Amino acid sequence: MPPFTRRIEPRSSPATGRSTWQRHGGAPEPGGELEATGAVSGKAWPKRVDFAVIGGGLAGLSTALALAEAEPLASIVVLEARFVGFGASGRNAGLLGPLPAPLWLASADGQAEHLWGLTHLNRRVHETARWLAAEVPGSGVEARSLRIEAQGFLTASGLVRVGRLLEKARLGHRIVAVARGQLAIDMDAHTVDPYRTVRALAALARRKGIAIVEQAPVRAIAERPDDVVVSGEWGRELAARAAVVCTNAYTGSLALPEPPKAKVVHNFMVATNRFEIERLVRPGVERMFIVELNTAYVFYRIHQDRIVYGGIERFKPYGSSDFDVPPEVLAGLERLVARSFPGVGLVPEEAWGGVYHQTATDLPIIERRGGRGAIVLNVGYGGTGVAMTMVCGRLAAGLARGERPADPDDARLLAAFQSTRVPIGGLARFVASVAADIARGRRPRVPDEAGR
Ligand SMILES: Cc1cc2nc3c(=O)[nH]c(=O)nc-3n(C[C@H](O)[C@H](O)[C@H](O)COP(=O)(O)OP(=O)(O)OC[C@H]3O[C@@H](n4cnc5c(N)ncnc54)[C@H](O)[C@@H]3O)c2cc1C
Repeated sequence: MPPFTRRIEPRSSPATGRSTWQRHGGAPEPGGELEATGAVSGKAWPKRVDFAVIGGGLAGLSTALALAEAEPLASIVVLEARFVGFGASGRNAGLLGPLPAPLWLASADGQAEHLWGLTHLNRRVHETARWLAAEVPGSGVEARSLRIEAQGFLTASGLVRVGRLLEKARLGHRIVAVARGQLAIDMDAHTVDPYRTVRALAALARRKGIAIVEQAPVRAIAERPDDVVVSGEWGRELAARAAVVCTNAYTGSLALPEPPKAKVVHNFMVATNRFEIERLVRPGVERMFIVELNTAYVFYRIHQDRIVYGGIERFKPYGSSDFDVPPEVLAGLERLVARSFPGVGLVPEEAWGGVYHQTATDLPIIERRGGRGAIVLNVGYGGTGVAMTMVCGRLAAGLARGERPADPDDARLLAAFQSTRVPIGGLARFVASVAADIARGRRPRVPDEAGR
């Protein structure tokens, strides 16, 4: 242990090994996956398909569904190393965020395409929520307000500037005063039960004739002159017209012609004991998803009389599985929960970790690889992938079919993703303008009813 690192022991010993959504949604017990899914060692691998999708999370299932939509007669297989919903898709906080490309907030002032992208993605997120309600009833989708709370002068100044950009992008929002005179931005958003959403998407995919093979880890994908060969464990192989890689933070487990550039981020969550909602003195909190911009970035929602609370990132693996939560992270989350809800007596009863893949721009990598481009990457959704994976399934499907997207807005979105660089100038301007406000002693102000 390095000097000065203090090991903080948590007070509670919550259940670990699965997320609260997986546990309550009937996911296999850790280690009991073969029996629970009935899939044994990937026996059901087909020999040849039109499209192979690697990874049974939200990105993989959305891509497979988009492929089936575009080519109803095509044979499609999803190969999943563990079980559908094993990864981040079954462990996240379930927010369908209204700003899934936050970096564009920093560049939208100077780049018309990024301003357009913010508005377009916001519309597509709300469309996705309506589609889930109509076609995927198991998802538990519900309307909530996303509340981003600034807890200090600096973040409040930044938030007010974000408010101005949201106005420019014509995105509905409200700046409100919350406890102790602090500021928050409210925006319309939605939440889902993440694990049930993935399972319901898998059920929909099966109904559309898509084969899903669990316990089927893929080891390598390579192009041949006329097709792509996908190799798995136990010498299994299949040939496909194209393969789409949707393996998120696990992409390093695959041999690919050119791996994507993204880092693996470990994020942690807890679900607390049950409590009476009246004890929370915060009106309407049960209809919100709250993000606190504080010394730590934390996010939480109420789900079935518990707080599901997340935050704290790490860049190194810990323990024997990525579900494991380091003791100091658990102690930190316990402390943060108590700070967000003082005096309510909340303690973590369940805790889990998850990993996501983060690019420098926080935008996904949806690109062709290999000499003919028959290997498509659909990865790097970072911490905003719940809605974004579903919005982007048809972009990846289009590339796998060898086409630019048919929808002009999809083509525009893909071009915007592929051309975005880290907007160092935009970020610097943003930080400088917040700093200027502070230097001038300009207090962030809550606009009145008329928005003045
Ligand atoms: C704690 C946490 C909270 C989050 N909260 C939110 C939130 O509230 N809102 C939001 O928008 N985003 C959130 N995210 C991010 C979001 O969950 C992800 O961006 C999204 O789920 C990514 O989906 P995916 O399908 O790309 O990845 P995954 O769900 O990780 O799917 C990848 C799948 O590929 C499989 N796989 C891996 N390697 C192989 C292989 N070699 N062969 C076959 N299969 C393989 C894995 O088993 C896995 O099932 C959160 C993430 C975490 C970790």
